[in-house]
Amino acid sequence: MAQLSDDCFAFGGSLLGIDAARAMIFERVSPVAGIERVPLRQSLGRTLAEDIAAPINVPGYDNSAVDGYAVRFDDLDPARPTTLRCVDRIAAGHDPAGALAPGIAARIFTGALLPEGADVVIMQEDCERDGERVTIRPGIKRGANTRRAGEDVAHGTVALTAGRRLGPADLGLLAALGFVEVPVRRKLAVALISTGDEVREPGELLGRGQIHDANRYILAGLLERLGVDVSDRGIVRDDPAKLNDALRRAAAESDLIITSGGVSTGEEDHVRTAIANHGSLYFWRLAIKPGRPVAMGQIGATPLAGLPGNPVAALLTFALVARPMIEALGAATPHLARRFPVVADFAYKKKTGRREYVRASLDGNKARRFHKEGAGMLTSLTETDGLVELPEEITRLEPGAVVDFVPYSELI
Ligand code: AMP
Ligand code: MG
Repeated sequence: MAQLSDDCFAFGGSLLGIDAARAMIFERVSPVAGIERVPLRQSLGRTLAEDIAAPINVPGYDNSAVDGYAVRFDDLDPARPTTLRCVDRIAAGHDPAGALAPGIAARIFTGALLPEGADVVIMQEDCERDGERVTIRPGIKRGANTRRAGEDVAHGTVALTAGRRLGPADLGLLAALGFVEVPVRRKLAVALISTGDEVREPGELLGRGQIHDANRYILAGLLERLGVDVSDRGIVRDDPAKLNDALRRAAAESDLIITSGGVSTGEEDHVRTAIANHGSLYFWRLAIKPGRPVAMGQIGATPLAGLPGNPVAALLTFALVARPMIEALGAATPHLARRFPVVADFAYKKKTGRREYVRASLDGNKARRFHKEGAGMLTSLTETDGLVELPEEITRLEPGAVVDFVPYSELI
């Protein structure tokens, strides 16, 4: 059937599915980043290069989880209050005077060593103190309010696995285990290029038909969050010779090249032809919307992600194509954005055979579609919370249907 010409997805040819593209990325792109040891404080955001086995127990000793009284469980009457003599006083960081004798309680504080023999701590709120004596209400369980050595991390077990991108809590765990240095992957050098005769730097006065470069700022931000070294190579004209030159130099000096624009089928779309002519092109069209024209290939030995020019498409394909390439190059555990079920507040029609992403805001568990369309609309990103993901097989969506929602915090 003839398609209306305003459907820019009308022309034929096979499109690669997003799952197949992802599989191809991990098959073709191998780790390049070697290993270095960095001080713990500098390891935030870096990719862990080795499994980390715990050299000690955390916590290192049995201790109290509350401020209260340490006793022997067997000294307590299960049916009525028990009064015990309280002798020792054990503060955090200090040794108990000795083992806890039968029939005796010890005043104890949070984090303090549990004296030998004690197997339960009663919160001070549940006790009555009268001089040397303390009276304890019945009803406590053996082991209550105690923390056992190694219950958080046991000596010898793997606390963190290779490939993990280290977050603040990971640094806390490594510190608790006593590490001062961490084995991480070398940072990747990523060359970032915008293309287009109409594209100008912010700050430049715009002539007729010109726009400011938005993509390089979106993409540099995304790259910096992934902990790579961004080599900003500015804007390259829609000129095959200039583009080839820029790509060749970037390939020689980087682990990965990311471009935006110029990957469609227009006569001024030179990125795809440059890859095809001077390297290898693995795919250039994906069965997704927005973002169908997106190229993956290599120039020399350096992989390249050729993202589309429209900012929304550039951001989405960064998440779907460029990010997996970075993970493969950096030996990082692949990130899988989680989807959450929400209720669509809108109707939608689509074609089968492609996955579509609809920008939406969340109102409780209702997803409201952004009121303007177009993959170039920057406010459709700044004023929404994420994307509703509509699978290939769906052709229409009715309001009230349960759909998958990917928040931007998961996607990028
Ligand atoms: P292209 O993929 O080069 O055909 O570009 C598609 C659309 O995205 C065009 O409207 C371009 O003007 C726009 N575009 C390309 N590069 C950028 C950029 N760096 N920042 C903002 N918009 C861009
Ligand atoms: Mg262009």
